[in-house]
Amino acid sequence: MDLVAPDPSAPPRAGLGTLDEAPWDTTYAARLSWLGARLNPQPVTAPGPLFVNDDLATDLGLDPDALRSPHGTANLAGNQVPNGARPLAQAYAGHQFGQYSPQLGDGRAHLLGELRDRHGHRRDVALKGSGRTPFSRGGDGRAAVGPMLREVLVGEALHALGIPTTRALAVVATGETVQRDTPLPGAVLTRVAASHLRVGTAQYVRDRASVERQASFAAYVRERHHPHVADGDHLGLLAAVVSAQARLLADWMALGFVHGVMNTDNMALSGESIDFGPCAFLEAHDPQAVFSSIDTAGRYRFGAQPSIAQWNLARYAETLLPLQVPDAADETVVGEVIEAATQVLRGFEGEYHAAYLARMRAKTGLTHAAETDPARDEALIADLLDLMTADRLDHTRTFRLLARVLRGETDRVRMLVTDSAGWDRWQQRWLAAFGGADVAAVADAMDRVNPAYIPRNHLVEEALAAATEGDLAPFEELLSAVRDPFIERPGRERYAAPAPEGFTEGYLTYCGT
Ligand code: AMP
Ligand code: MG
Repeated sequence: MDLVAPDPSAPPRAGLGTLDEAPWDTTYAARLSWLGARLNPQPVTAPGPLFVNDDLATDLGLDPDALRSPHGTANLAGNQVPNGARPLAQAYAGHQFGQYSPQLGDGRAHLLGELRDRHGHRRDVALKGSGRTPFSRGGDGRAAVGPMLREVLVGEALHALGIPTTRALAVVATGETVQRDTPLPGAVLTRVAASHLRVGTAQYVRDRASVERQASFAAYVRERHHPHVADGDHLGLLAAVVSAQARLLADWMALGFVHGVMNTDNMALSGESIDFGPCAFLEAHDPQAVFSSIDTAGRYRFGAQPSIAQWNLARYAETLLPLQVPDAADETVVGEVIEAATQVLRGFEGEYHAAYLARMRAKTGLTHAAETDPARDEALIADLLDLMTADRLDHTRTFRLLARVLRGETDRVRMLVTDSAGWDRWQQRWLAAFGGADVAAVADAMDRVNPAYIPRNHLVEEALAAATEGDLAPFEELLSAVRDPFIERPGRERYAAPAPEGFTEGYLTYCGT
């Protein structure tokens, strides 16, 4: 079956309904059943809806109100397996903080199956926090309300910012308590993803599967995510995954997003952002910024993310080698294949750089400069980031203020920096790049790429703390702001303001919770 193009033989999209009425596909279960454990989610005591994503539901041909009904909620809680779904826990391995774990897998998640969105794209629908599986190790298989609503906020923010990401379809409360440092209310998240195939999935396959199965896994990845690559062209597949990740990392770096746990099991072969547990958006621009409580060495600090992505991609490249070298004893062929794969991996740097520069030129308005001059733009961007780092300027707000400088509020950034002479020199060079152009139009274009609202850490914490106590209003307000990030609206001033003094220094988030 063609995994990508709309399937003309498929029955017409069912009318809007619950997950029970949806036209499920289960291609992973059918083709890769050996790559997971077939089992149903574990029911919960008292499911109740906390969040339903109307926009995403409609996109999938589902009725948001039906999802909120008791019947819809029973599906989303894992209490009733939707008709046509075939739940399974996926197996995968992964390098965690550089250490290889040969068996991870979904310890608290169940893939229900796949649905097509309105464009015909196949999307995984999976529950998270839905009970123990053969891959749970010591874990309880459950999730708490706070981290699941964090996944909603961050996914919706990334999506609104135009960054490829998995998204939450729904969160339901379980009515049960999960024990973490303290007892917390439990929740199940329904996640929609281009797929849940990870670098770590490929590592697991390379370790455990026959060459035939390795080839069928690679074919599945290719068909599902990179169908333009020729069948059996493993270097081409590597190049496609490298390219998707280079673009993703450029997006993260331009927007100041820190994933937090870039283990190989948290990197999707589709190029979507996934499993951003202890993630955060930068406040002060700082290449050294770390927010994850468990990242004590700063391996996944903001500035290290592109090189970590490249390291992870090298692990992916290793999984494709057995397919390219039928006879591992032939050292000449092995050497040639490794050299070719290394060249493809090196391509990450150029692709990343080009994508990042394009994003940053748009953020600084330089896309609209009077003359094209890449060297000038690179220098201006690097010098701006240095000035921001030196004074710990807020990443998001500084770019927003630059547009106001163009609108004549020339002191807007200057008054925030200590090196005002240095700032004046930068600002002069920057303004000179526009020649006599209509800078008001440039400022408007900048406002369409520089968000006013991101899920700022102090606001996220405040919203999650209230939600944990049963008050969803702060979560809903913050969600509305981050879903509409580019237009400043009266009453939302506090969502655009940096965290109070001292908050960010001590700010850490926790994963696996
Ligand atoms: P994460 O850090 O959330 O990406 O998870 C890393 C691994 O730990 C994955 O294999 C998860 O399925 C597993 N895991 C995390 N939390 C739990 C939990 N509460 N119960 C069982 N497995 C878990
Ligand atoms: Mg994970």
